[in-house]
Amino acid sequence: MSSMPQNPFSAVQEPTTESDFLTPIESIEDHEIDTTLRPKKLTEFIGQRQLKENLRIFIDAASSRGEALDHVLLHGNPGLGKTTLAHIIASEIGANIKITSGPSLTRIGDLAAILTNLQKSDVLFIDEIHRLNKSVEEVLYPAMEDHALDVIVGKGPSARTIRLALEPFTLIGATTRMSLLSSPLRDRFGVTHHLEFYTQDDIERIVKRSATILGVSIDADACATISTRARSTPRIANRLLKRVRDFAQVKHDGRVTVTIANLALDALSIDTLGMETIDRVILTTIVETFQGGPVGLGTLAAALSEDEKTIEEIYEPFLLQCGMINRTPRGRVATKRAIAYLESRNKNLSSSRLSLRT
Ligand code: ADP
Repeated sequence: MSSMPQNPFSAVQEPTTESDFLTPIESIEDHEIDTTLRPKKLTEFIGQRQLKENLRIFIDAASSRGEALDHVLLHGNPGLGKTTLAHIIASEIGANIKITSGPSLTRIGDLAAILTNLQKSDVLFIDEIHRLNKSVEEVLYPAMEDHALDVIVGKGPSARTIRLALEPFTLIGATTRMSLLSSPLRDRFGVTHHLEFYTQDDIERIVKRSATILGVSIDADACATISTRARSTPRIANRLLKRVRDFAQVKHDGRVTVTIANLALDALSIDTLGMETIDRVILTTIVETFQGGPVGLGTLAAALSEDEKTIEEIYEPFLLQCGMINRTPRGRVATKRAIAYLESRNKNLSSSRLSLRT
């Protein structure tokens, strides 16, 4: 896998951190960790067994035929491993990877420049492919289907289309919002995979692996504690591990024990369900300001001073997954579980305040 040369295309990013748009709550440091901890081979990629088995077959079959792998669409929540898989696929094929994202590919010329520079079997990774604009998306159709680029030359009545041949390449698209993909684009992917949330066991294995790479010694029960609060998501598990490591260094002898893990996670206001302050603010707003809902996304975003897309793509999936909210045609509704959760939290807070006073 090669790194990008002196980048001639404004829309092409260095192949390190491409989900910036989707992860505004993360820091540059988190991205550095992402890169360091990213598995390099399919065998190092933990969990998602069915997806790995299928990819193994498709990669081996394409390689033995000497063909480019069919286009792959990966969908699932942020931090579940879509970018990691794109890198792994390219490295397993032994091809170069070029990375860009839907929002940064605004001009047809940018995409055309990228496509014409692809070598045989190269991988083009487009993150947040659902955010491609229509005219750029349409350039992809013949490129994906016929390895061709239709260029319009001239203007007015003398304008004509020239078809340029492209090298066979593999497009890997990643999206958190499959439903926003147009069907002509969706239909052009030969392989479509959904990345599931990870099991507790898999997240524990990921935390252990990351601790080994970072040189952190961690007790088994501390590993379990971090994993239960990691929202079934590898990126969050890695982030929590790093924060806990800081506490272990400053407050202890560097070893991550369960006491240190609990201390750090409590200090970060991450509770035993993995809920963070922003999750509780969202739930409290729906329950208290909007009497439990339904409340429209726009209204909720305005009340929270947050971006609609951030709420929809970053925060909501977890709240939906743990049954705290429902999406209805009339808006978001807090569930009974959310109300019980907030009540028990308030009770705990007031009893701890009471015990502080007495
Ligand atoms: P996405 O592109 O879906 O937002 P990434 O591929 O950037 O997610 O993954 C975020 C981080 O989580 C990566 O740096 C990697 O370290 C870790 N990660 C993701 N999936 C796995 C996995 N299956 N096994 C081990 N680590 C993983």
